[in-house]
Amino acid sequence: MDKEFLFEMLRTGSVDGNETELEKKIYDHMQGKADQVTVDEMGNVTAIVNPAAQFKVLLAGHADEIGLMVSAVGEDGSLMVRKIGGIYVNTYPGHKVRIYTNSGIIYGAVANSREISKNKELEASGLRIDIGAKDRDDALKHVQLGDTVTFDTDVRELLNDRITGRALDDRVGAFIVMEAVAAAMEKGASVGCYAVATTGEETTGNGAYFTASRVRPNIAIAVDVTYTSDNCDISDAETGEISLGKGPVLCNNPTVHKKLNAFLRAAAEKLGMAVQTEAASGYTGTDGDTMHQTGPGVPFALVSIPLRYMHSPAEVGDLKDIQNCIDLLAEFLVNCTADMELKPF
Ligand SMILES: [Zn+2]
Repeated sequence: MDKEFLFEMLRTGSVDGNETELEKKIYDHMQGKADQVTVDEMGNVTAIVNPAAQFKVLLAGHADEIGLMVSAVGEDGSLMVRKIGGIYVNTYPGHKVRIYTNSGIIYGAVANSREISKNKELEASGLRIDIGAKDRDDALKHVQLGDTVTFDTDVRELLNDRITGRALDDRVGAFIVMEAVAAAMEKGASVGCYAVATTGEETTGNGAYFTASRVRPNIAIAVDVTYTSDNCDISDAETGEISLGKGPVLCNNPTVHKKLNAFLRAAAEKLGMAVQTEAASGYTGTDGDTMHQTGPGVPFALVSIPLRYMHSPAEVGDLKDIQNCIDLLAEFLVNCTADMELKPF
């Protein structure tokens, strides 16, 4: 695995609507690693192996991350914000942040006080970002309404192949799908293999919609992150027993395609790889739902990376799970054939 590129992705800001810098890096990185690399009007980057093949498998990992957006500037020069995606507001006070402006990143501190830290009902509209501006006019020389904001955090290596950083959700997924199609090309896959780093998953799913409705895949696989039950207050009853480092997670739910799960399991068995199983109901809350409902309908599966502390500034994942997920998807792609039977009977 190209760990350096993964870390480069994790260092790059990509709040919904502002994924371009990251997508461009992926576009450049994938040159020569697939037969074709494309970008669409939304910025979705797709790497394609065997573009002429009739039977198409689309793997999607989302490149966007949750965060904040500057919504107003106070007379004192502090920035007001609204949330983009499912943030935990209480994780922001007292943190350094990056504001992604037209002329580059500027830094800020999120105001904190005894009152703020005690406020369990804190809303995004109650956050104030201090960028050091003297007043409103001074701030507006640097920042525009609509600029996006993330925590000012970097990726770090922990013990035992574990890593921590913000928004591993789901830049690890975008990384995995790209590495998987590159590996599938080397292993001689025969079907059309499409890997997309989608935009907008955390808010609208528009990236997955644009891509799936244009590619018109026969099969789609969403690669995202899932809660572990090996820490904090997530219970086995909610997710099934999911642990860090114990392998990619297949989802059992009413919409995930049973035969695709069986094909994925067979690929894992071939590799002697352990996989975990999560139980869910109805929608998966991933790009899988969107791809499933494009065109005439697309059978899909969801493969997830176990992740601790999801949507916090210090998510924790395991590089072994990431590598196993790449290997699993590459093996799956190589085993796919144009005549694979997907009907249940
Ligand atoms: Zn996600």
